[in-house]
Amino acid sequence: MLSLQECRRILDVMPEASLEDARAAYRNLVKVWHPDRHMRDAELHRAAEAKMKRINVAYATLCSALARGKAEVPAPPPPEAPVEAAAPPPEPDTRELVFLDCAECGKDAMVPFQPRGDRPVYCSDCFSRVRSNSSGGF
Ligand SMILES: [Zn+2]
Repeated sequence: MLSLQECRRILDVMPEASLEDARAAYRNLVKVWHPDRHMRDAELHRAAEAKMKRINVAYATLCSALARGKAEVPAPPPPEAPVEAAAPPPEPDTRELVFLDCAECGKDAMVPFQPRGDRPVYCSDCFSRVRSNSSGGF
């Protein structure tokens, strides 16, 4: 079994040669080395036969490798394919809770934001009451 490198050397093609390049190179080599062309010289004829055998093997090996390689080229992934990055774990709901006194009843009020100071802060009870009272305004 010839290595692909050897096959290319025998066929005299570039490493990036396509199937068509290999075929063209093979045709040229057959023209040169076909044993029928060397009938007058027995030694040359024998050499040509040996050469043709190697060329045939090299061509068959390279062709099947190229054909197989073509079939095995994986399709590029579609650009919108989801990236398989591990999603960060959902953050525990510990947004900065701010503890304040309810502006309405004075109880501890816990709000998930830093109050800006221009709005009163209510505990949840008072907040829902205040909101329902002012619902008409929205
Ligand atoms: Zn309150």
